[in-house]
Amino acid sequence: MDLKIIGEMKPEYKCDCSRERVEKALISIGKRDLTEIYEEGKSEEIKCHFCNKSYEFSNQEIGELLNQSR
Ligand SMILES: [Zn+2]
Repeated sequence: MDLKIIGEMKPEYKCDCSRERVEKALISIGKRDLTEIYEEGKSEEIKCHFCNKSYEFSNQEIGELLNQSR
């Protein structure tokens, strides 16, 4: 028998977060704060509270979110 173990790490549960969700969360912090981040030329890293996955938003992407929230 030549069995291969695929993936030793068992996911404890599957988090259903997605970039889309994080975008919505980012928009929900408010346009004013978002504009501030954007105008300071910053990027933003958002971490999921459940699975600790981090999503990075570049300054340009934050600008795009601002346009979307208009
Ligand atoms: Zn998550």
